[in-house]
Amino acid sequence: SCCGSSYNNVSSDTASQEEQINKFRVVLLGESGVGKTALVSQFMTSEYIHTYDASLDDEFGEKSVSVLMEDEESEMVFIDHPASEMSAENSLSTYEPHACVVVYSITSKESFRTAEDILNYLWRERYTQDKTVILVANKVDLARSRAISTNDGKALAASRDCKYIETSSGIQHNVDELLVGVLKQIRLRATRERK
Ligand code: GDP
Repeated sequence: SCCGSSYNNVSSDTASQEEQINKFRVVLLGESGVGKTALVSQFMTSEYIHTYDASLDDEFGEKSVSVLMEDEESEMVFIDHPASEMSAENSLSTYEPHACVVVYSITSKESFRTAEDILNYLWRERYTQDKTVILVANKVDLARSRAISTNDGKALAASRDCKYIETSSGIQHNVDELLVGVLKQIRLRATRERK
């Protein structure tokens, strides 16, 4: 489309639409090559996703989808920018995301350290305390090249008060669980805030 998405130049029109359908922004963070793009592509094949406009904003690394879970429809926007162009800091101020998904590869110690830096940043900014943060250990199909143990991943997540999940976008392990987990966590927060 020539006009692109309008969620960030919110008009009063958009605002009233947002009240009807929950619209949630999810930013993927982590070193280049850990599988962020692959994970988002796998989300698109999920049975929970019932409409999907692949062309919309794809060139900016954004995908908008409609997710039907427990009879409730939500629109989710996945924002996946190359790490070099979009730091965690930039992502928070630009998108004000409802959730951050921090990804590392179990085969890369460096990507784990980067994930740790990002989690520390989100914690210092009090983002973690207010919003949803999920630590994702991806590429678990590459078990023989594993450089980061499950315990180390879980310990990092626990130390920064966020959820932990191991996935493989390669063999579609836990990818649906991640999608549903993100949405459930966001909704849980939204419900608590309304009370
Ligand atoms: P990004 O830079 O974080 O977006 O990473 P990509 O999604 O582009 O993935 C980088 C490379 O890792 C690609 O060659 C993917 O095919 C590969 N990859 C991504 N996820 C997995 C996975 O779960 N298992 C394996 N074996 N390879 C993966």
